[in-house]
Amino acid sequence: MGDRLLEHALDGDATTTEWREAGFRAASEAGAFFAVTAGSRMAQAALGISTRAPPVAALATLATVCVGAVAASCAGGGQFQFEQSTIDDALRAAACGVTAYAILGGRPTSLAPSHLASVGAFGRRRASLAASRNYATDAQRKQLASLGRRFGCHTCGVKSSVQWIADHQPPQKIAALRDARWWKRLPFLGAPTSQRFYPQCAPCSQKQSAAVRVLSGRSVLHLPTVRPFHLTGFVSAPLSRASAPKKRWYE
Ligand SMILES: [Zn+2]
Repeated sequence: MGDRLLEHALDGDATTTEWREAGFRAASEAGAFFAVTAGSRMAQAALGISTRAPPVAALATLATVCVGAVAASCAGGGQFQFEQSTIDDALRAAACGVTAYAILGGRPTSLAPSHLASVGAFGRRRASLAASRNYATDAQRKQLASLGRRFGCHTCGVKSSVQWIADHQPPQKIAALRDARWWKRLPFLGAPTSQRFYPQCAPCSQKQSAAVRVLSGRSVLHLPTVRPFHLTGFVSAPLSRASAPKKRWYE
């Protein structure tokens, strides 16, 4: 977490210039990782990758974390001030990135665009409720509003929505289409699609209604939402520096 910042805080005798340099380096490392995550979400949306296909979204998130962590180490300058950077340095930066990302609460698909007709990047099962085809009851709405304030809108991640919507997942129209498939009439395969309620903010709910109506594959990039795991570079770059073989440093 900004190793030099921590060092200066512990020593207590750093000059203003040293503090400024340490702050600039920590900000560069955090910023580089964040920039990679934002660019990656735009690229994923262009390629049609979203939370609709969780295994692909998980691979994209993993690749984003690895590239972001290497970018953070490059931005900080410390890790790559070796006589010659090796693939080992990049692999160590990536491994430190994945570790820091997980410690900071990042989840397998958190850095993928949220598909509007599927559970979004911020959706988690423990922040959802079992649902039937019916609308949510008052008690369920109340519970979902509380889950929304704690975990955020499952699509865009905001925690301060004025109005919380009990969002059926999969959406009603999608569930109905799935249930209308011919093999759903066969014995043993005919169980109706099960649904859950996820907390969703009103703006995302409106976007979802429009997208589901025309069965569009639109997704939400959730660029303005910042959670601790978006700043993985702040932790991963110093971690990678600290675990580097010291004999290879320039002195
Ligand atoms: Zn939202």
